[in-house]
Amino acid sequence: MKLSFTKAQEAFRTEIADWLDRQLTGPYSDVRGITSQTEAAQRRIQWEQELGRAGWSAIGWPEEFGGREADLAEQVIFAEEYARAKAPGRLGHMGVELAGPTILAFGSDAQKQRFLPSISRGEEMWCQGYSEPNAGSDLANVNTKARLEQGPMGKQWVIEGQKIWTSLAQFADWCFVICRTEQGSQGRHGLSYLLVPMDQPGIDIRPIRQMTGESDFNEVFFDKAVTAADNIVGQAGAGWQVAMGTLSFERGVSTLAQQMHFRNELATIISMANANGQSSDPIIRQRIAKAWRGLQAMRASALRMLSQTDDGMLTGPQFTYKIFWASWHRQLGELAMDVMGQEGELTGGDYELSDMTRLFLFSRADTIYAGTNQIQRNLIAERALGLPKEPRG
Ligand SMILES: Cc1cc2nc3c(=O)[nH]c(=O)nc-3n(C[C@H](O)[C@H](O)[C@H](O)COP(=O)(O)OP(=O)(O)OC[C@H]3O[C@@H](n4cnc5c(N)ncnc54)[C@H](O)[C@@H]3O)c2cc1C
Repeated sequence: MKLSFTKAQEAFRTEIADWLDRQLTGPYSDVRGITSQTEAAQRRIQWEQELGRAGWSAIGWPEEFGGREADLAEQVIFAEEYARAKAPGRLGHMGVELAGPTILAFGSDAQKQRFLPSISRGEEMWCQGYSEPNAGSDLANVNTKARLEQGPMGKQWVIEGQKIWTSLAQFADWCFVICRTEQGSQGRHGLSYLLVPMDQPGIDIRPIRQMTGESDFNEVFFDKAVTAADNIVGQAGAGWQVAMGTLSFERGVSTLAQQMHFRNELATIISMANANGQSSDPIIRQRIAKAWRGLQAMRASALRMLSQTDDGMLTGPQFTYKIFWASWHRQLGELAMDVMGQEGELTGGDYELSDMTRLFLFSRADTIYAGTNQIQRNLIAERALGLPKEPRG
């Protein structure tokens, strides 16, 4: 198992750290430290484009599509330095981490040429159209329908149905949508993976207000929305395999480096506890120490995964990673609230939350998105331990 990085990798670390430092103390100092998903969105799209110009947006991709062909270790180093520099949350995340890798793995050459450069240059934002009111954990229950029809510009898919919890749809130019394209099909069969432009009359985006006061996610209604016939990834009716490919990217290596961001949050909690005297409370001290131990375990686990995977896909013990970090992070939010005491319950005039209160509220979602904790336990049981599959209808 690799326990540290090589000299060349550390040189790469210095290069990216210097670039980030120059940008975030210079022209982009205004976006430094933004943790909210929706704040200063237009400015953060400019930041995406700056990353793209410098070749730092999608570093694991082939050079011809704007990447650097960075290996997994370099991708983790990049993400670690990104968090260490307090660079803003990536508005381009769903294009760079989900849509792009899926198109690379399953898309046609024409789709790669059309979509990948605009993602890596930060010119087009993406969102994920999977969940529906009756299809969350049970994604195979998707009921949004699409059919091929003759349109003014040739054959096109016509889409009707509803998605929900669609993060950042309000900023997205494109959505990857799981639709039922075979009439009368059920479960995993007859689904297709369509790439759909968001700016059209057939799409209605309605924000959902969360307890953080923000609207990161939305309901998205499709009422005869259209996309060109060839905007389908993989074969018609065989979208399930593509959809699962995207999920493995979502649960996989892209989450490895987030411990650096978590480390920043724990450091803030420790300095708050030192400032308000909570650090002399023995229970708080134990919880801080436990959180720190969890961070070390995550780092060791990330390094083990780096040693064992070349393609970012999860196997065996690596299935434990999502449930571990999500549960750890939710507990960190609870610790932050207990360290802040009543102060944590105060909001500013227009329901403005401190970063730590937002951490507490938002981290409740960590054990839900990208597969709930219960679904993670099923994955561990079935795929890592080889236990019998749960009965499914
Ligand atoms: C912050 C956030 C952002 C999101 N962003 C997006 C997005 O951009 N695009 C998108 O498509 N979706 C998104 N989602 C939706 C997310 O994928 C779903 O919430 C998740 O899959 C769970 O589905 P559900 O909410 O329908 O809950 P359900 O599936 O209805 O689950 C309800 C409860 O039942 C449990 N349960 C369900 N099935 C089983 C089972 N077989 N065994 C044991 N327990 C079970 C679950 O664990 C859960 O506790 C987002 C969610 C959140 C919280």
